[in-house]
Amino acid sequence: MTSFDLIIQNGTLLTFDPENRVIEDGVICVSGDTISHVGDKIPEGHAVSKTIDAKGGLILPGLINGHTHAPMSLFKGLADDLPLMEWLNHYIFPVEKNMDADFIRTGTQLACAEMILSGTTTFCDMYLFEDQVAQAAFQSGLRCLVGEVLYDFPSPNYGDLESGFAYTEWLIEKWKNNPLVSIAVEPHALFTCEPELLKRANQMALTHKRPLIIHFAETLAEVEEVKKRYGKTPLDHLDALGILGPHLIVDHAVHLNSSEIDRMAEHGISVIHNPESNMKLGSGIAPVPQMIAQGVTVGIGTDGSASNNNLDLFTEMDMAAKLHKVQTMDPTVMDALTVLKMATIEGAKALGMSHETGSLETGKKADIIIVDTNKPHLTPMYNPFSHLVYAARGQDVSHTIINGRLVMENRQLLTLDLEAVMARAMEKAVDVRKWVSNP
Ligand SMILES: [Zn+2]
Repeated sequence: MTSFDLIIQNGTLLTFDPENRVIEDGVICVSGDTISHVGDKIPEGHAVSKTIDAKGGLILPGLINGHTHAPMSLFKGLADDLPLMEWLNHYIFPVEKNMDADFIRTGTQLACAEMILSGTTTFCDMYLFEDQVAQAAFQSGLRCLVGEVLYDFPSPNYGDLESGFAYTEWLIEKWKNNPLVSIAVEPHALFTCEPELLKRANQMALTHKRPLIIHFAETLAEVEEVKKRYGKTPLDHLDALGILGPHLIVDHAVHLNSSEIDRMAEHGISVIHNPESNMKLGSGIAPVPQMIAQGVTVGIGTDGSASNNNLDLFTEMDMAAKLHKVQTMDPTVMDALTVLKMATIEGAKALGMSHETGSLETGKKADIIIVDTNKPHLTPMYNPFSHLVYAARGQDVSHTIINGRLVMENRQLLTLDLEAVMARAMEKAVDVRKWVSNP
């Protein structure tokens, strides 16, 4: 007799499978790390280790945060509403030049707690000391795609660029075959990375069959800087360096024209849209409805906590849906289902992870969340997709399961000591204040 390790029942299943099936009063069964049954009845003749009652709520794939700088959770609210260079020079750089592995571990644990508590099961990270990010994520039970940021100047982690490439190779080797952690090659941006750096990073990504992830066309200032240095648009610059391809994932992609969007679709380049960060930093509005219409795969991300200031994908979805309606003055663009797909199956495709996550389908890894709809702000419910985007918040997630493991049950974190993590974060904030006042 086969057995199920976990069964979730008594809720509406939103599968995000190719038919986008919705199963009322559905049942999902998990064996080990894998979804072994999706339907409306519990298969007979199986032993069951644990059953979760969804209490009439919504059962859906865990959300995918396509772009984060997780340790920056320690920077939220440190400084807001400032011009970019003032913000960087007076607040972010003085902290970043002082921080160490322990600071990164603490910030990542804090971010992991926030993500699990708001229904995120996978995140894609770019920062410094990424081995610490990977370790903290792995211990928290989160799935992640992470990479050490590479740029032209010395890093507080690895020192010179040569050591940065060596560190990235070491990360790829260290984490290969890990069930939760994958490594990407991550040059920072076109204005912080010389062409030689970009070409070498691209070669490393291709050699190891890893994604290449970069901030791209985020601000007009960046576009002008690239034009001044290389006489090209950001896309033409990457094209001239031979970097365009399906392994490329770009964050932001705010300033693009229609023919550039076509070329991105042709090359299979994926985009991560970060609406709240783009709004807060005054970067502009990415042409996401056009990208989707022209065949680009688009996921959604929060960006770092200093420019958001939270990691809650529910508020991010709400913003994404509304921002594009304002810009186009068309309430039909970026409907709730489209936005939810960006946070689930399309986000998984964008990160090259749709074979294992992003939908509730037999054979995929069991990354599942339950949203408790027994709340005044979610009652009554005519359309679950509408509620998830326009009414629900991260706090409405009651259970989070990642890779078959229950990591939050009835809002209790099971993999992190939340009190201890927050106490350490408060200690790090004392250091941050000191570094900012004595740069
Ligand atoms: Zn970013």
